[in-house]
Amino acid sequence: MADQTSPLSLWRRYLEFPLIYKMAIGLLAGVVVGLAVGEPITVIAPLGEVFVRLLGMLVMPLIIVTLIAGVSAITPARLGRIGFKVFLFYLVTSAFAITVGLALALAVAPGTGLSPPGDAEEEGEDPPPVSETLLDIVPDNPFAAMVEGNVLAVMFVAIAAGIALTLMRGSDEARLRELGEFLRRGVDGAVELVFLVVRGVLQYAPIGVFALIAVVMGETGVEALGPLAKLTGVVYGAIVLQIAVYVLILLAFRVGIGRFFGAAKDPMATAFVTRSSSGTLPVSSRAAERMGVHEGVYSFSLPLGATINMDGTAIYVGAATVFVANVSGAELTLAELVTVVLVGVLASIGTAGVPGAGLIMLTMTVSQAGLSMAPVALVAGIDAILDMARTMCNVTGDLVATRVVARTEPGMLRGSETPGDAAGDDSEATPS
Ligand code: ASP
Repeated sequence: MADQTSPLSLWRRYLEFPLIYKMAIGLLAGVVVGLAVGEPITVIAPLGEVFVRLLGMLVMPLIIVTLIAGVSAITPARLGRIGFKVFLFYLVTSAFAITVGLALALAVAPGTGLSPPGDAEEEGEDPPPVSETLLDIVPDNPFAAMVEGNVLAVMFVAIAAGIALTLMRGSDEARLRELGEFLRRGVDGAVELVFLVVRGVLQYAPIGVFALIAVVMGETGVEALGPLAKLTGVVYGAIVLQIAVYVLILLAFRVGIGRFFGAAKDPMATAFVTRSSSGTLPVSSRAAERMGVHEGVYSFSLPLGATINMDGTAIYVGAATVFVANVSGAELTLAELVTVVLVGVLASIGTAGVPGAGLIMLTMTVSQAGLSMAPVALVAGIDAILDMARTMCNVTGDLVATRVVARTEPGMLRGSETPGDAAGDDSEATPS
């Protein structure tokens, strides 16, 4: 009999232990150790940074190979329809999210009675003009777009390649068809390869989770939350509400909640600790695979969502703007509230899902609404804690859209061919 304590058998037991439990243990241990040790815990920051880099290294290859594979598996007309549905879903849920954030903050009034920090008025940032954001989607150099991490531009190139591949495979010329099939097999192989690396990287996740959370707790500490407890409560409360709405949407489309969250919990936990929806892409794509969603949907909806769909961030921007107004004793008029909604949504389109992006959107919104910039410094002090929850919400929103759109498109769910057929919905998908 093999020795139960040999390194090999311990490693095997580690591999067999469910990932979410390993991550939960890392998370709890990180909170405890971070709070107990305080600031000096930052020495272990590289352990967390390695995890973020491992995920980051997979983002661009993953977007490229899954999108080419996904787009070349469907017709351009189908792609257009899926794109339209995904976009509509993102727009509606984002508008709802920012309204929830604003409404809850107006009801609870976080920030009243607090005084703004005395130091200098910081300069706010203006959102880039919409025309520039749109133009940036078309890269003049695809390799530069990859290096810069410009997700929308890379998506543009991959979609063009995917459509060209579809045309090659459907060509009248035997030579083109043959080459198309050859390329298609290569892309399929590359998708499998990237997911295999994702699985490997996830085995490091518990250590990364531990280090990331310990550093945030050690740096921020619970005391920092004190005066901002109300704002934190509003943001976390509104995010819980938003997730309840997701559950209702899933139920309305007769999606099995258990199976959805069974697969979504890994990306949700990863988003919580890495505070980056772009960085979480490899994990959320793997979760979509496990839900049985065809790559024709998720290869498009997830990277797009990581860039433009940020429900948690919208909640935060709404709530924090009310907080800023309250601290500086300003009354927000209806017109200003509308500005907040519009600038919040527009700013989120051009901003990538990286840690702290929401804070930049907040400064844009505050400056557009003509409010004082000083109270933003208060929010910045606890931004990491708020970023964790909002990123988790952002990633959940992307997955809900992905799952729901797959449900409404025939053939886009493995294990259920007919949309609306609830019976096939909870069958086991190909595990990845
Ligand atoms: N960190 C968030 C994300 O990656 C963006 C934000 O800062 O709100 O989705």
